[in-house]
Amino acid sequence: MSTSKTEIKAVKRDLYDMIIGGQSVGGSEGEYFVAYNPATGEPLAKVAKATKADADRAVEAARIAFETGKWKRSPVNKRSRTMNKIASIMRSRFNELVELEILNSGKSLSAAQGQVMQAIEDFEFYAGAIVSHRGAVNPMPGPFMNYTLKEPLGVCAQIIPWNYPMMMAAWKIAPAIAVGCSVILKPASLTPLTAIVMTEICHEAGVPEGVVNIITGDGATVGSYLAEHEGVDKVAFTGETGTGKDIMAKASQTLKRVTLELGGKSPNLVFDDSDIDAAVDGSLFGIFYNTGQSCEARSRLYVQESVYEAFMEKFVEKAKRLVLGNPLDSGTHVGAIISERQLEVIDSYVKSAEAEGATIALGGGRAKVDGFENGHWYLPTIITDVNEDMKVVKEEIFGPVVVVSTFKDEKEAVKLANNTDFGLAAAIWTKDHAKATRVAGMIQAGTIMINSPFSAFPGTPFGGYKQSGFGRELCIETLDLYTETKSVVSYTGSRPLNPFNL
Ligand code: NAD
Ligand code: MN
Repeated sequence: MSTSKTEIKAVKRDLYDMIIGGQSVGGSEGEYFVAYNPATGEPLAKVAKATKADADRAVEAARIAFETGKWKRSPVNKRSRTMNKIASIMRSRFNELVELEILNSGKSLSAAQGQVMQAIEDFEFYAGAIVSHRGAVNPMPGPFMNYTLKEPLGVCAQIIPWNYPMMMAAWKIAPAIAVGCSVILKPASLTPLTAIVMTEICHEAGVPEGVVNIITGDGATVGSYLAEHEGVDKVAFTGETGTGKDIMAKASQTLKRVTLELGGKSPNLVFDDSDIDAAVDGSLFGIFYNTGQSCEARSRLYVQESVYEAFMEKFVEKAKRLVLGNPLDSGTHVGAIISERQLEVIDSYVKSAEAEGATIALGGGRAKVDGFENGHWYLPTIITDVNEDMKVVKEEIFGPVVVVSTFKDEKEAVKLANNTDFGLAAAIWTKDHAKATRVAGMIQAGTIMINSPFSAFPGTPFGGYKQSGFGRELCIETLDLYTETKSVVSYTGSRPLNPFNL
């Protein structure tokens, strides 16, 4: 086991260790795994492989940091200043962070830039939000005083997916440390690099040791172990719905606080009175952004019958113009698929649609990208002639695949939109604001976009209805999910109380 004091190292390098208790450390068994570049299929770096013993040490370090209270009891303006400093260091290394994010995830330059920028703005948002986060004074019947305190929950395990590596790390770390919690972040094994660098930056900015720990390793081993660990007070998880159910069951053994940001199969409703060009452009972005590997991907497209033909002609034509290419080029729209395994999952969904009688209107197979022959690339894929019972309509594919069908009227649009176990997001395209507002009110989803391709900004709540999970991130209310409310009742009368009249 190698150990050295954490300092900010080169962002891009050959070896990434974990950070536990402020120390840069290898795994307890000295093992490493390899992180790959999905665009080229080439190895990128060695990453320390965490064991359960490492998870134990990270929980202990987080507990000590929490109980000694150096961070949680530091003045709120100091915490706020430190978080702004994290943001400013990230800003000063913006291009390096973007490059590393691209190399490890295969996503396009514009996607990575937007996501790294949002990660920075998350820290700035919570640096501001925390100074006004407070309890309340409540009315009491008689000579009593009641006030509430928002106290940090404690040690939080935060487990995140591979699709937005840096942004998800920020969504998790920023609100938790803002209120004074300690965290153990467990990034996805496929994409641990930028989260490790973010943790180093937290230390450089002055977050005390043990407040932000990161362990890198297998979800089924160390992730699962954190979910059941007695020393963990809360699990915040983003990932697949199935994994979320497993985590919730494990967390229940010690009644850990749980927030779950899970999968989606979000509907995209195009009404006949929409600006068709804006709807086409927004719907393309809605599914093909981040190569379709987005929880909020609008992967079920429903178009009103009367404009279906006109819409589809433009939609398919423009989809053909999407550029798959070097992710580091600004002209690339669609990046690589995260892994060969994920590509096979995507392809098997598409094959199942064909077998069930759907039409592949575009794409439907592996893409060849010049210079990237050994990477994992899939064609932007549009599937029509689907029905509501098909696997491709019901299940999250998590790739650049959209299914398209029609609706007659507003009532049917709402019914189809809600015909899913998920409830993460939905988009509505219409110029009729009354209709948009009515439909927004009837859709069971955590985020509704009206004539907007964008869904998430620091300050806007993000999270699911139904099996897309619960709890909201990215907003002021998230701070409450990292605190307990303590109610303090005190008697203020001048005569002693004698409730038994003895
Ligand atoms: P995943 O569930 O496979 O893995 C997520 C994380 O959990 C990883 O760090 C993994 O190592 C870990 N893990 C795996 N098995 C575990 C277990 N049994 N116990 C504890 N941890 C375990 O998800 P993924 O494939 O990395 O990401 C894709 C999924 O994430 C999609 O379903 C997507 O919709 C979802 N997602 C949701 C949001 C949201 O905000 N709702 C955002 C991004 C991604
Ligand atoms: Mn997975």
